[in-house]
Amino acid sequence: MRLPCPPIQPLMPSQQPTAENQQPTAGLYLHIPFCKQACHYCNFHFSTTLRNKPAMLEAILRELELQRDYLSGAELGTIYFGGGTPSLLETRELVQIFEQIHVLHRVSPHAEITLEANPDDLSLEKLRDLRDYTPVNRLSIGIQSFFDEDLRWMNRAHTAAHARRCLQASAAAGFQDLTVDLIYGAPTTPDAHWAENVRIVLEEGIPHLSCYCLTVEEGTALAHFVRKGTAAPVDEERTARQFEHLLDATATHGYEHYEISNFALPGRYSRHNSSYWSGAQYLGVGPSAHSFDGQSRQWNVAHNARYLSALQAGNIPFEREVLTPAQRYNEFVMTGLRTMWGCEIARIEAFGEPFSGYFHREKTQFLQSGVLENTGTHIRLTRAGKLLADRIASDLFWAEPEP
Ligand code: SF4
Repeated sequence: MRLPCPPIQPLMPSQQPTAENQQPTAGLYLHIPFCKQACHYCNFHFSTTLRNKPAMLEAILRELELQRDYLSGAELGTIYFGGGTPSLLETRELVQIFEQIHVLHRVSPHAEITLEANPDDLSLEKLRDLRDYTPVNRLSIGIQSFFDEDLRWMNRAHTAAHARRCLQASAAAGFQDLTVDLIYGAPTTPDAHWAENVRIVLEEGIPHLSCYCLTVEEGTALAHFVRKGTAAPVDEERTARQFEHLLDATATHGYEHYEISNFALPGRYSRHNSSYWSGAQYLGVGPSAHSFDGQSRQWNVAHNARYLSALQAGNIPFEREVLTPAQRYNEFVMTGLRTMWGCEIARIEAFGEPFSGYFHREKTQFLQSGVLENTGTHIRLTRAGKLLADRIASDLFWAEPEP
């Protein structure tokens, strides 16, 4: 195997731009649509049949080539392998993808290059290969819980032992830039277990955490079980208690709650996701991947066989929409409110009427009830507001009048 570029060291915290002040940086997202088994709560696009993995690799390489001009030559500041389960790719397959990326794009020498990985894939040998043969410098590990009863209930492919072992192995292989996913609010997760999950990652000093509230998404096995009565619906009180504990414990350990589901040690924000939230352009490659060029959004078909046959014929199977002013305003409100900085008032004003007037009228009730606060430059959620973030944002959304 040949290195496509010199291994890139993780940025030290002092080198990292803050999410709000950073220049938006162009990003590349690659969707790897395969998983070993289907987690009951998951509504991402993936297949558990791995037979088409080699053909998918060819198609992704082909799409990269066909989309080479999408970012108009902008240097890539972030590369993100998501899915699905990108850690199912062998190292030599990742190297092929990196070679293609480097042929087609300029990549910043400080690029953040993230691979989503599941604990059962992260043997020490695999981690060392990733470190030695690819420029991956950040791992996003789908741990979800350190308790087997939760993992069985979620139908995860890994065990609690895998979850603990992969953290040690990642450190041993030299990966310092880790983010861990955890899920709270599951019926198998009493408060004491949630507290233990949080304690483990905080004591390990994992620099970045993504903690998601269990949600029952339409079309998932979990939604089916809840409808049949074989799984309990989400207990909102438990969820709120566990979220409150998360806020307290992360604050005590010096983490910033910089986005509603994301926590980071100072400066260790996800630069890839921060770019999404700041409206930067990005190219998404692979089935179901989304792209944004600053004006329009497009998304590839979420169907492996259709994606493969289109690419084999030299076509990219996507749909596109040009965002209306109302959609741009609503996206700004949604993403801004979810961050710890909130929505910048000057940028709300820049949307003009009817949006700015509507925002200012609607926000008043939330300022009075104490779920929003005005910092002078921004409108942001208070701690009480964080529990109601989606509801508040949707009340601030502009609805186009019926024709
Ligand atoms: S491993 Fe991730 S993408 Fe795959 S089914 Fe589970 S949650 Fe979904």
